[in-house]
Amino acid sequence: MDNQKHCLITGGSRGIGAATAYRFAKEGYRITFFYRRDDESAQYTLERIRRISAYCQAMKVDIRDFASVRQAVHKAEEEFGPIDVLVNNAGISRIALFTETSEDQWNDMLSTNIGGLYNLTQSVLPSMLHRHEGSIINISSMWGVVGASCEVAYSTSKAAIIGFTKALAQEVGPSHIRVNCVAPGVIDTEMNAELDDETRDTLSDNTPLCRIGSPEEVADAVYFLASENASFITGQILGVNGGYIT
Ligand code: NDP
Repeated sequence: MDNQKHCLITGGSRGIGAATAYRFAKEGYRITFFYRRDDESAQYTLERIRRISAYCQAMKVDIRDFASVRQAVHKAEEEFGPIDVLVNNAGISRIALFTETSEDQWNDMLSTNIGGLYNLTQSVLPSMLHRHEGSIINISSMWGVVGASCEVAYSTSKAAIIGFTKALAQEVGPSHIRVNCVAPGVIDTEMNAELDDETRDTLSDNTPLCRIGSPEEVADAVYFLASENASFITGQILGVNGGYIT
């Protein structure tokens, strides 16, 4: 099934991005996903999606680089048509005291998690504005809502994504473009691979639903926000966190 719509997902090689790419492919979307360096995961996800759809392409693009992003978006649109849904998902995290966060680490966090959002949205939005349609979903985090100790840089970047979502939604709403945000709680991906068992148990215990979430559960929320079922929803932050924060 090809619904002729095109969804671009950053960080689609693994984790939440890969689950999101698969979810949209199942609904008939043409998929382009960007990743940075993990060719093996990108190939695995590409092959998995190609089993259910003829329209999936993976592009190795560093979202911190505006020129590369712009060029890749252009190429993606040439292949699969204009982008209808943009999912700004790619991100990095780092656990460290603020006083032990170097200027380079701080800048890397912001240029990936926020700079990437700027580069992608600047590259995709003009065509959406021209067509008077489109949906943008940004992936923040519950730590962007409440803040997390030892994750000041990460929380800063994720809080900025919430501000970006709310402001852009107001600006482009009159052009029939919706902008929303998903703020996941603790999700079982490689981003959390370095957590030890005790920390994982504590995080589960602190979650009212008594477990950590799956990438597919986040993907379902992203898909909902892009779908017609969310046609009157814009500028919102949807928590997918098992009730960890309310
Ligand atoms: P993963 O670490 O599993 O995957 C991250 C993805 O982002 C990979 O595809 C990676 O590509 C890509 N990426 C990272 N930096 C760049 C870059 N500079 N250019 C292009 N692609 C890049 O992360 P998750 O799936 O766990 O997280 C996805 C999003 O969800 C992130 O924004 C994260 O902050 C957010 N989130 C995650 C939570 C969790 O508990 N897992 C909780 C709350 C929010 P490559 O593999 O090639 O490096």
